Amino acid sequence: MSITVVGSIAYDRVKTPFGERERMLGGAATHFALAASFFDQVRAVGPVGEDFGESELEVLGTRGTDLADVERVAGGKTFFWHGEYGWDLNSRETLDTQLGVFEGFQPKLSEGSRASEVLFLANIQPDLQREVRAQLPQAKFAALDSMNLWIEIARESLVSAIESVDCLILNDAELRQLTEKPNLISAAREILGWGPRAIVAKQGEYGAALITRESFFALPAYPLETVMDPTGAGDTFAGGFVGRIASALAEGTSLSEGLLREAMAYATVLASFNVEEFGTERVERLTREEIEARLGELRAMTQFAASA
Ligand code: AMP
Repeated sequence: MSITVVGSIAYDRVKTPFGERERMLGGAATHFALAASFFDQVRAVGPVGEDFGESELEVLGTRGTDLADVERVAGGKTFFWHGEYGWDLNSRETLDTQLGVFEGFQPKLSEGSRASEVLFLANIQPDLQREVRAQLPQAKFAALDSMNLWIEIARESLVSAIESVDCLILNDAELRQLTEKPNLISAAREILGWGPRAIVAKQGEYGAALITRESFFALPAYPLETVMDPTGAGDTFAGGFVGRIASALAEGTSLSEGLLREAMAYATVLASFNVEEFGTERVERLTREEIEARLGELRAMTQFAASA
């Protein structure tokens, strides 16, 4: 089985209180692929410009990610994002976004990408997300991420895209913005009424919550003393979440509450590694053993029982 992902493949310029990078590999699809590739075969979909380096392509292909649908556009410029974080890393300002080759991109997926049973529509214009969704009508599990920019300038298209997926993964402030409901649970309930059966509310350093029609579940973020750069944490989280679900579905397990909760734990662990260094630096050299060890620590931290 495999996971198809469409989303930005980017160069990022990032400044945090702990350092800066003028031009590093980034993009929602990139961070997703680096995490999800621990669990299943990933197929990345999206264009890059003539300026995109061979070494960056190699990183995108880490752990066997299929690059057949990564199109290099002659004369084009790779998506570029420039952001800066506040002193506690909780606030982030976007200083520049250049769509480059994503402008006018029309995805035509290869047979392999169309045959995937799991689909992740990472953050990009919702029209593009819908075009890709339409090419995988048989996918067993489709999830979507987005951001404030698209809520502001393409809300209608985004709502249609959300109606077509099983799971929405969004920052909690964006869930409120999307529904214009100040209460997170009410916001999630409204979106559950549009079609998805699970909503994941990402809450940055405070963790993440999972809301379905029947239940509520939450995990804190893994506590870290050193956080260098949160860029891509949300996409890495989504990679762990969707990746774990894909590997379970491939083994014939059905999508249960227990599986969703375990996927939340893997997502939390993957995201915690991502923020320890800039961009993709940490997850590039992460190992499965490190993931399992931290998962064990997270389990110990979040378990409780009445004392005897
Ligand atoms: P995250 O920190 O998880 O929200 O993701 C940050 C990544 O999203 C960066 O690597 C950026 O390249 C990418 N990104 C930023 N703005 C956009 C946008 N408007 N559309 C698609 N991707 C974006």
